[in-house]
Amino acid sequence: MATPLLGQMMAAPLLISSLLTHAARHHGDTEIVSRRVEGDIHRYTWRDAEQRARQLAQALRRLGVSDGERVGTLAWNGYRHLELYYAVSGMGSVVHTVNPRLFPEQIAYIVNHAEDRFVAFDINFLPLVETIAPQCPGVQGWIAMTDRAHLPASDLPLLCYEDLIAAEDGDFAWPSMDENAASGLCYTSGTTGNPKGVLYSHRSTVLHAFGASLPDAMCMSARDAVLPVVPMFHVNAWGLPYSSALTGAKLVFPGKDLDGKSLYELFEAEGVTFSAGVPTVWLGLLTYVKSIGGRFSTLERTVIGGSACPPAMLQSFEKDYGVRVIHAWGMSEMSPLGTLCHLRKHHRDLPEAEQQHILEKQGTAIYGVDLKIVGPDGEALPWDGKAFGDLYARGPWVLDRYFRADASPLVDGWFPTGDVATIDPEGYVQITDRSKDVIKSGGEWISSIDVENVAMAHPEIHEAACIAIRHPKWEERPLLVVVRKPGSTLTREDVLAFYQGRVVKWWIPDDVVFVDEIPHTATGKMLKLKLREKFRDFEVST
Ligand code: AMP
Repeated sequence: MATPLLGQMMAAPLLISSLLTHAARHHGDTEIVSRRVEGDIHRYTWRDAEQRARQLAQALRRLGVSDGERVGTLAWNGYRHLELYYAVSGMGSVVHTVNPRLFPEQIAYIVNHAEDRFVAFDINFLPLVETIAPQCPGVQGWIAMTDRAHLPASDLPLLCYEDLIAAEDGDFAWPSMDENAASGLCYTSGTTGNPKGVLYSHRSTVLHAFGASLPDAMCMSARDAVLPVVPMFHVNAWGLPYSSALTGAKLVFPGKDLDGKSLYELFEAEGVTFSAGVPTVWLGLLTYVKSIGGRFSTLERTVIGGSACPPAMLQSFEKDYGVRVIHAWGMSEMSPLGTLCHLRKHHRDLPEAEQQHILEKQGTAIYGVDLKIVGPDGEALPWDGKAFGDLYARGPWVLDRYFRADASPLVDGWFPTGDVATIDPEGYVQITDRSKDVIKSGGEWISSIDVENVAMAHPEIHEAACIAIRHPKWEERPLLVVVRKPGSTLTREDVLAFYQGRVVKWWIPDDVVFVDEIPHTATGKMLKLKLREKFRDFEVST
């Protein structure tokens, strides 16, 4: 091996505690505002957050939490959850954010698999905690994230979060450690099989926060007031608690109320400039704002990802409200950011419709993520915007192996994302499907996302899912499952007519069914598996 001349710069490890100490020292007066489950609004600063995180780290040490041990959370977005993020990782342990929307059996499985020593929870999750506690014998204590006055009665011997903090003086120095030490754990909410754990490191988290903040990523700065709608239990709220500290942005936490009205009030009251969330949440917000004839007075931009952003939603944000949408793609296994969509300089000369078409894609890779698409035989496919292939990724914040798994899922050093995509000559990725959702009609692939996007542009359609149904001749054909907007009398024929001229003929669904509701996963994705089961024996009407 070559013996290079080593650089002579400090070998400062990239540690999560450094994000918090930076924010406290250089943006100490910047606010963190939270709507609490107790019902009121709490506000303090990055300086206060760092002080309390040190006290919390002392308390957890006193409870016996040691290096590398896991502390679980069952909590909404709020300042105490933020303190847990920083205290647990900062002291050298691992913060394990558990998704409270999963089934109790799944939650118990995850807590046991992760071997959580303590679990901190928002008090409205007490019934859930009481249900799973008997199945989680390894948990030594359940910490209620509240003060003594709000501590709920329970047969469980609860620890009181504020008492733990109050007992400490904050005289605690964040330890130095290997930047590759584990810092956070998040389980994927897979629709099949047991959830799998993704174990982030200090290094991967800090590098991801750097990448996420860049102008052609989330474009974050100390002038931003950031409201993460995406939960802190879903891939670390897409890293926003970290990138906000890195840039010194104000944070606004919505707590448990994610309905349009509650969110809108917080956006306006706190001068929110930037937000991020999945399309279903924005559906609720836009419907509410429209119903009251409201405007966004400070919101400049929002990242939409987790599922494909329907073009109609993108247009409504931009045209009706002057809010820029940044369409993004990623996954738990990628910390999560992979691609984000922005126009390049020369795109500004294109006609508006063409610009729009680019913005509907999931965007280009940020530095730190490398991508490729491959065909059925593993051969790399061209970046021509036409060839569909399995999307692979690699980079310093991409998973190497799942927590406590023996084998690595990597193929030649690349992570198979399970998504199918095209990549155009400029590197813009368009996700056409999850590989299991793609519709194979007569040997050709139909993108269910494209078919859904057309439906979502219809003014009387609230939500639409496109799934494959069996066909004697073509093998599979698309069926469109539609939730109408309230009061709509839209018919099957109306919907099919709407497709004329909007997609190639053979992509037009064979049939349309109307339902009251489309099932969603715990992270807001349409549960197509359930729909496919429901319509397994569906016969096309003639
Ligand atoms: P999760 O690990 O829960 O964040 O889910 C990741 C998966 O969500 C990806 O593998 C995609 O299938 C899907 N996804 C995320 N963002 C998008 C997007 N912008 N468009 C389409 N699918 C997306």
